[in-house]
Amino acid sequence: MSAQVDTEVIVVGAGVVGLATARALAQLGRDVIVLERHAIGHDGASSHGRSRMFRFSYPEQLWVQRAQEALPLWRALEAEAGEPLLKSTGSLDLGAVEGQRAALAACGARFELLNGGEVGSRWPITVTGGVPALFQPDGGMLRADAVVQALLASATSAGARVLEETAADAIESDPAGVRVGDLRAGVAVVAAGAWTPSLVALDAQPTRETSTYLSLVGEGEELPVVIDTTTTSQTGFEAYGVVSPGEGLKAGLHGSGQPADPDERGDPDEVIVAQTAAWATRRFRDASPEVLRAETCLYTNIADERFVVERRGRIVVGSACSGHGFKFAPLVGAQLAALAVETL
Ligand SMILES: Cc1cc2nc3c(=O)[nH]c(=O)nc-3n(C[C@H](O)[C@H](O)[C@H](O)COP(=O)(O)OP(=O)(O)OC[C@H]3O[C@@H](n4cnc5c(N)ncnc54)[C@H](O)[C@@H]3O)c2cc1C
Repeated sequence: MSAQVDTEVIVVGAGVVGLATARALAQLGRDVIVLERHAIGHDGASSHGRSRMFRFSYPEQLWVQRAQEALPLWRALEAEAGEPLLKSTGSLDLGAVEGQRAALAACGARFELLNGGEVGSRWPITVTGGVPALFQPDGGMLRADAVVQALLASATSAGARVLEETAADAIESDPAGVRVGDLRAGVAVVAAGAWTPSLVALDAQPTRETSTYLSLVGEGEELPVVIDTTTTSQTGFEAYGVVSPGEGLKAGLHGSGQPADPDERGDPDEVIVAQTAAWATRRFRDASPEVLRAETCLYTNIADERFVVERRGRIVVGSACSGHGFKFAPLVGAQLAALAVETL
């Protein structure tokens, strides 16, 4: 960046949250520039890959309600993109289901309690030993890479300018506005994922998580996304599985990663890969025990899996992660955009 450029809003970071924010701002008619220090869709942050889980099923009403609010926003993005982005095959909780049952009921969401036989007759999923199961039909699989491209296309067609390979090294702010390098704006939105604490004060701990991919017999077309808390007694972590379209099954142990410096590339944890593969082949009858590949992805952990969506003078901070932020991106993007506009 050489000459000074003025805009209304600078968004730092073009992961799913930054792009959703830029889209919302541009659709409000605001002039917005997004800075992304790598290429869109790069695999060194938190939004890459083919799939993420979408689910209403949480033990806290707050998250159920947020997912309910996010669902129509996903459908609107889908309609605009003209392609399917959220496949609603439902979500299946195994093990601890009482909190989810109560929260879903309080929020008026649909669900069914199933036994192992009922689960096994609906899907190629094995549940034995009286483990409780809760099926919620609005859950499903978000096509993560397609979502990122759809948000980018929507944001740019509404007028947002996206500068790839362009880092924000620091943000200076005063009562009149912000400066990022040679760029000046009325407000900056920091949506830099695991790098947010390097730009603004934030009590967050990045961890490097391991995702494991197994092949499936067939496409897993009808498989719900699965969260299984029964693994916590053996591994210390709940397990999850979600179809990775065209590839097989993506599985992991939620929150099992180690604290990490996001600037250092790390390798998958082989112990976690082995534990995940053992769980997935036990639960998913169509999963092959052979691991196709494993990759890492960053969580930005904040206490209580909370999101930070707040305004600090001329800077708006959006750290919507703690390992479960993708599903809420259009909602959080709209909230961050509203905070930014309030500041102008
Ligand atoms: C293994 C794994 C599984 C997950 N599963 C789910 C799931 O099933 N469902 C769900 O809802 N969520 C899930 N999540 C969480 C979800 O993916 C994240 O919450 C979400 O992707 C965070 O997006 P973000 O835009 O905040 O961050 P990021 O995607 O990390 O984007 C931040 C961007 O900012 C850029 N950047 C950083 N610093 C700068 C700078 N100084 N200047 C310019 N650019 C900068 C980075 O390069 C990056 O592209 C999962 C996460 C992981 C790791």
